[in-house]
Amino acid sequence: MLNLRRFLIYMKHYDVLIVGGGAAGFFAAINVADKNPNLKVAIVERSKEGLAKVKVSGGGRCNVTHAEFIPQELIQNYPRGEKELLGPFHTFMTGDTIEWFEQRGVALKIEDDGRMFPVTDSSKTIIDCFLNEAKKHKVDVLYGHSVKQIEKNEEKWTVLTSKGEITSVKLLIATGSNTKVWKLLEGLGHNIAQPVPSLFTFNIKDKRIKDIPGVVALDVIIKVVGSNLESEGPLLITHVGMSAPAILKLSAFGALELAKRDYKFSIAINFIKQERGYCNGVLKDVKQNSPKKIVLGSTQFNLPKRLWQQLVLASNIDSDLRWADVNKMQLEELSRQLTSAVFKVDGKSTFKEEFVTAGGINLKEVNFKTFESKLHKNLYFAGEVLNIDAVTGGFNFQNAWTGAYIAAQHISDF
Ligand SMILES: Cc1cc2nc3c(=O)[nH]c(=O)nc-3n(C[C@H](O)[C@H](O)[C@H](O)COP(=O)(O)OP(=O)(O)OC[C@H]3O[C@@H](n4cnc5c(N)ncnc54)[C@H](O)[C@@H]3O)c2cc1C
Repeated sequence: MLNLRRFLIYMKHYDVLIVGGGAAGFFAAINVADKNPNLKVAIVERSKEGLAKVKVSGGGRCNVTHAEFIPQELIQNYPRGEKELLGPFHTFMTGDTIEWFEQRGVALKIEDDGRMFPVTDSSKTIIDCFLNEAKKHKVDVLYGHSVKQIEKNEEKWTVLTSKGEITSVKLLIATGSNTKVWKLLEGLGHNIAQPVPSLFTFNIKDKRIKDIPGVVALDVIIKVVGSNLESEGPLLITHVGMSAPAILKLSAFGALELAKRDYKFSIAINFIKQERGYCNGVLKDVKQNSPKKIVLGSTQFNLPKRLWQQLVLASNIDSDLRWADVNKMQLEELSRQLTSAVFKVDGKSTFKEEFVTAGGINLKEVNFKTFESKLHKNLYFAGEVLNIDAVTGGFNFQNAWTGAYIAAQHISDF
């Protein structure tokens, strides 16, 4: 520590210091300064520009939040943080987010699947809003300041950065999934849930899907074989395996378990969301009613044609076989392929560059009425630094806004 201090350029003091100029950090700083304009507030950010993830989020459009307005429903999108976020969402959630941005000149729109974006379809709108608000409220944003040490000395916090030493009365940590900062927080006595990736797609090499990338099954049920993990929703066949909400939900809710299995496991897919017995009955009716038709060409259950063809071929039914000539075993196998097709997963890939990290500050060590540490007075957390993460759809940012807003209400109270 003494060595590092020799090279310090300056020392500064603030009432409130926010570590991390990302989504949660900016949102918190602006809200603190807005609520109590007398406070000296600063953000320290290690990079040259903050808000890097906001910039690339939602494919450059920034999926700000999700049009779900019932707290009880909203929390179900958080594999970690579900219980803890219920109270906070009663204080600040989707409707408040929309209003907050609207009051600052940013209109949001809802897409068919519930995701909400700025009407401009550009994350720059959100970044400009934050930068303007921070400037308007005289928040000091100190770029290129990487935090190296955090100490508590009597009634103040001392933060050693790559550029200088900063002291503050209150400290909010919003450094996202940064391993080095988690280590510093461990030094302060906090426990960190081990980080593992969440929101990934499954790598699958299988004859049935090899030639049909781009095919979407609109509503499937997927189970991880030998576990209770299960999800429903759209499924996309990709060049390397499978993606889309049904898979991403599994990757989020199964983040810990799938990491333990080193991303090698089997899934069973029900492509038609029907029991096997029912499916078999429907196929028998088709056989009886359309004996002359070629099986490969008569798609059932509104499945995508190319997927149907692959499942038919996988059931040992030749491409020119007519329904009349399909035997009992082939019918049963086709029912199995449609309702419980097993695929071997071998590894994972990133979903459109979007990912989050499961892991972070142990939630038992945080007071969710204030987002203050239960271990240290005047130490607060918001965003992904906590062991909270969500499925894709705008929920991860909503966690950042909610935590930052609530923390700001308490931080600004001097
Ligand atoms: C490509 C991509 C797309 C995404 N799209 C969406 C989306 O559309 N909608 C959605 O809800 N979620 C999305 N997410 C997830 C979302 O971006 C994160 O959940 C969110 O950014 C977390 O906010 P945060 O403020 O906690 O952390 P971050 O946004 O990661 O910010 C942390 C900040 O702390 C800084 N920092 C770290 N360590 C230090 C240090 N030692 N000293 C100083 N500063 C430090 C970092 O440089 C960073 O600026 C996406 C994620 C990715 C990767």
